[in-house]
Amino acid sequence: MLNKILNIGTRKGKRHAVRMTNLFIVIGLPLLMLNVAVQASEYQINVAEFWLVNAMVIVGYCITLLLNWLNQNDLARAWMLTVFVLDVTLASTRWFGIESLIFFHLIVLYPVAFLLWQDKPSIRNAILVLISVAFLAIFYWPNAPMFPSDLEQQQSSMALVFINCAILLSLVAKLFSIDTQRAHQHLAKQARIDSLTNVLNRRELERQLKLENESVFSMAVMLFDIDKFKAINDHFGHHAGDQALKHVVACVRQVLPEEAKFARFGGDEFCILWPNCKRQQAQTLARKIVRHVANNAWLHQQHNTAISISMGVAFETQRKDLSRLLIDADNAMYAAKRNGRNTFVAFWTDQTQAMPA
Ligand code: GH3
Ligand code: MG
Repeated sequence: MLNKILNIGTRKGKRHAVRMTNLFIVIGLPLLMLNVAVQASEYQINVAEFWLVNAMVIVGYCITLLLNWLNQNDLARAWMLTVFVLDVTLASTRWFGIESLIFFHLIVLYPVAFLLWQDKPSIRNAILVLISVAFLAIFYWPNAPMFPSDLEQQQSSMALVFINCAILLSLVAKLFSIDTQRAHQHLAKQARIDSLTNVLNRRELERQLKLENESVFSMAVMLFDIDKFKAINDHFGHHAGDQALKHVVACVRQVLPEEAKFARFGGDEFCILWPNCKRQQAQTLARKIVRHVANNAWLHQQHNTAISISMGVAFETQRKDLSRLLIDADNAMYAAKRNGRNTFVAFWTDQTQAMPA
């Protein structure tokens, strides 16, 4: 339920910023209501005036919610700021006195939440200064203290205000950070991982390849492509083709050493990177992978379908031109296709060798 309210208007615009506006309202409205209740029971101010002010603020926040719902996110933010300024102005006029302590939550909570969703640090700092000045003005208004003259009561009231504010602020900050963290993790994963097969994507592998280049003494690159994959798609459909891709990935993973990195380059083409291995080890692994895929038929709708791959292997010790390595592996892979598929071809810097898989 809470999540539903927080998600109002998140279809367009910055999801997180919209959620913050909504959170603002979800916390702020009950606080206002409570404030109204306390005031009504105390009956110490001009009731009509008080209700007018609170009703205005409530309507103000509801309009923010409505604007978000209409996907007018920027307008919602601007409106929210206006309501907030109004809020502070009213509080600082000292209409409500000591009994409306809850009102101070709004003064602290809202600007801080507003700060949290700002994108530009300079704006954030400017608002922070403004709020600090507003606070000083409210609490230390010359010759007209906000709180009763009795010092003890004044101090305890102040302490109460600040403690409550701190609790609410930490709650907002916590919600904010959890949400941001999740969004960040999700985006970071999306940028690195191929969503269908859950192996790395090409960009991430190339990034890691560049990093590895500094520290490794050798590198094997294995590029492979599924044989006649179009036929699988044509025969079983695209969705089944996706399952076949996953099956091949699972097979390869079963025999892949821990240090090797595995990525989907796109379509039915994959790449394996094995740093610090020996030439012989690379050759043995290539053979093992090609055989393992061929020996493990893909079970689909109770039928076993044989799948094979063709692989090109490139290996280097001295010259660490990695883009060159990829080109060599690619050429070797096409050589494997020409050699009749279901095999691998190794490219050892100055010689190309067809290997029986
Ligand atoms: P070859 O042995 O020469 O590789 O023949 P092939 O049929 O596998 O030819 P190719 O590798 O060029 O074809 C790849 C096909 O993979 C083409 C495309 O329709 C299909 N494909 C690409 N991405 C996906 C995907 O994400 N899912 C599915 N199901 N098919 C895909
Ligand atoms: Mg293919």
